[in-house]
Amino acid sequence: MPADLLPNAESVAQHVAAFERELAAAASPRDAQSIRDRYLGRKNSVTASWMQLIASAPPDQKKNIGRYANELKQAIEARWTQYGEHAAATARPAGAVDVTLPGRLPALGHRHPLTVVRDRLEEIFTRMGFTVVEGPEVEDEWHCFDALNMPAEHPARDMQDTLYLATPMPGLDGDPRERTLLRTHTSTMQIRYMQAHQPPIRIVAPGRVYRRDNLDLTHSPAFAQVEALVVGEGISLADLKGTLLAFAREMFSPNIRLRFRASFFPYTEPSAELDVSCWQCDGAGCAMCKKSGWIELGGCGMVHPAVFEAVGYDAERYTGFAWGIGIERIAILRYQVEDIRLFYENDLRFLEQFPY
Ligand SMILES: [Zn+2]
Repeated sequence: MPADLLPNAESVAQHVAAFERELAAAASPRDAQSIRDRYLGRKNSVTASWMQLIASAPPDQKKNIGRYANELKQAIEARWTQYGEHAAATARPAGAVDVTLPGRLPALGHRHPLTVVRDRLEEIFTRMGFTVVEGPEVEDEWHCFDALNMPAEHPARDMQDTLYLATPMPGLDGDPRERTLLRTHTSTMQIRYMQAHQPPIRIVAPGRVYRRDNLDLTHSPAFAQVEALVVGEGISLADLKGTLLAFAREMFSPNIRLRFRASFFPYTEPSAELDVSCWQCDGAGCAMCKKSGWIELGGCGMVHPAVFEAVGYDAERYTGFAWGIGIERIAILRYQVEDIRLFYENDLRFLEQFPY
């Protein structure tokens, strides 16, 4: 033991001061207890080692060593008692709330990115005077194919592409349309709405559709579309283009341009693929538009007269346009997500990145 810490009045004072300092810095009751044991414990503590010195000390020093050891022990015990009283007086009762702590905000959820896109679509078209309508996902072949100018031999009706159901639709017993399926497109809502209403018509119909596809980077067996249908007297291709341009400028960017590429759908004539100019590079070519400057959005066209005839409209009097756009497609572009599967996995780490 160093000479300056041999039992004497000064070393007692030093140990007491050190004990107080350590105790004041104790992080927990357990911590404080171990500090106390180092000074007062029966084995290997400061007081215990001083007591041991008595046995080996010269006879004339035994008394002094004993006196200082007792002084130290009493001083440490007194401070330990004080510390305990103080801790008890200031401790919060179990379960009490510390009102001085900053508040913890509850985590707020938000809409799914696909819902955000759908809501935005509905908002834009509602403002243009469209009505939002919804309809059944389980359909019959007539609404999904026949009425849309896709007769029995049409390849879209193939079991390879369409998910048929084993049970007939309720209420259609004995009807030749009773073969039921999961709708492959939202165009079924054109038929259902026209059957129930007379022109003029302006509707958007968002909803889920189903295809016999495997889930991969860009495909899903279930996805969402939004369908639009406008029918009236004198509706032209210019109305179609103007409506889509107004939508694309609201949805993506005010400077966007539109392009129609000739295409074929059985239920529209003429038919077109709808492209918009890339809003990231303004048509110059970038990764998002795959260097083409254009982004494919969906299909559109003027309603085929055969569709009007199927629902009993006068195809000589009325014209109309229709289009369908994938909601996931818009979300992928808007949020720059490359894998469609991320939208279905409900992983909060992904979803939390897109609060609006
Ligand atoms: Zn681009």
